[in-house]
Amino acid sequence: PIPVIAIDGPTASGKGTVAAKVAERLGFHLLDSGALYRLTALQALRRDVELRDEHGIAKLAEHLPARFVGGDIFLNNENVTGAIRAEEVGNMASKIAALPTVRQALYALQLGFRETPGLVADGRDMGTVIFPGAKLKVFLTASVEARAGRRYKQLIDKGFSANMDDLLKDLKERDERDTKRTIAPLVPAEDAHLLDTSEMSAAEAVEQVLAWYAH
Ligand code: C5P
Repeated sequence: PIPVIAIDGPTASGKGTVAAKVAERLGFHLLDSGALYRLTALQALRRDVELRDEHGIAKLAEHLPARFVGGDIFLNNENVTGAIRAEEVGNMASKIAALPTVRQALYALQLGFRETPGLVADGRDMGTVIFPGAKLKVFLTASVEARAGRRYKQLIDKGFSANMDDLLKDLKERDERDTKRTIAPLVPAEDAHLLDTSEMSAAEAVEQVLAWYAH
């Protein structure tokens, strides 16, 4: 079978960075599953499909005209790599992610990323729901303060303004939504390796994941 490395964890835990680097080192494909929820959210916001219209949002997810080219993400022919990272889109993504029909609509699409020689899949339910047979499962954690601090630095580096109290509040709300929802809540798989990156660089986390994979 084609090997899968599942990397799950809460928002701003660094899993996106770690997953991309592990994929690069192994020459594996990469699935950024959060991007699929963000793309669906972006479509819903642009087309004024409201959250309570679950069927309408599920239809957007089912017919997502998404393409992943190198590190860039396209909707039809528009490069939306930056647009889907907006806070507004992330917030909407975490709301539509609680809709069962939306998760169902994105299921087959995610399985399709499993191609030779292997896949690194990053998200919330990679090890529990989408790839329960993954060869390696990692659950990345970090304290809410460490995660807010990283996001703060990212925003400032990009020239945005940021407020630490707002970031902490936003992260806590999103954690709450992701862990308390009834469908595919954010929990470590039973056989996941836990990795707390509060005091760790991304490079160190990558080495740990590669070491686990090699054993
Ligand atoms: O990881 P990222 O922040 O891009 O994900 C955006 C939102 O999509 C998350 O807040 C989460 O609610 C949802 N998501 C999910 N399952 C995944 C990936 C993301 O529910 N596998």
